[in-house]
Amino acid sequence: MATPRRCVGMLLQRAAGRVAADHRWRHRPAITSRALTVLFAALLAFLPLAAPAFGGTLTSALTSTLDQQQVMAGAAVLYNARIADLRAARLLDNDADFHARVQRIAQPLLAQAARDDPDAATWPWEVHTTTDPEEHAYAFAGGKLLVSAAHVAALQLSDAELAMVLAHEIAHAVLRHNLLEYQEALRLEPAWQARPFAQLEYAVDHDSALMAKLAPLGKQQELEADRAGLQLAARAGWPPHALAGYFRKLVQASSAPNTSGFAHPSPASRWRAAREAANNIR
Ligand SMILES: [Zn+2]
Repeated sequence: MATPRRCVGMLLQRAAGRVAADHRWRHRPAITSRALTVLFAALLAFLPLAAPAFGGTLTSALTSTLDQQQVMAGAAVLYNARIADLRAARLLDNDADFHARVQRIAQPLLAQAARDDPDAATWPWEVHTTTDPEEHAYAFAGGKLLVSAAHVAALQLSDAELAMVLAHEIAHAVLRHNLLEYQEALRLEPAWQARPFAQLEYAVDHDSALMAKLAPLGKQQELEADRAGLQLAARAGWPPHALAGYFRKLVQASSAPNTSGFAHPSPASRWRAAREAANNIR
């Protein structure tokens, strides 16, 4: 899908075509009883976005008029469709204990994100869960999250480690990673400017040539979401090193911890970076 989705798992590779569990995707929830919909009214007017720390050449040249609202609208369509599918299959928010655990941990993180970024605080955030074993953890542009009980169970995540997963996804959204990726795609292949945005949404997840060009940015964004997510969760009160423990579990679960994936840095490099980020938090 559109690039709307961002995932944590390194176990998932974003292969051409579709990915079992990697970056982007789509979904949509009908506001179910347990759906957590955070909708902070416009707190303050427009504050400068917490500038994505890229600073790099990869994202600096923005060539399009594509904006966050357009990206969010596209992501909402995809998210809603995915959520509807899961609901129809009775796989949406269907593990009551897991769902309650995720909401309990997610809520303070979303509140922290709202304090950090008043603009993002106005988005209609949603956090859903599923027991679909094919899913992991994703975020669509605009704060649409889906977390799989299977991923959490497979790694036997503690609450702090689950907080790291959620904070990573929240960071992708807050940092407007999808928007930045589309903008990079337009810079790399300006011809997309003349085509419908929905086609670009599809291409970033299905056009292998374009995906290969975007892979370096994707890896950069993963590391950024790791760091920003860890910092966000720490501000919300989680012990930094307990958060970083998530990455140790990724290393332990990987058969090739020093090998990068298509869109994710190697688990070992993420673990090192997370420890360093935790060490730098006072
Ligand atoms: Zn990610």
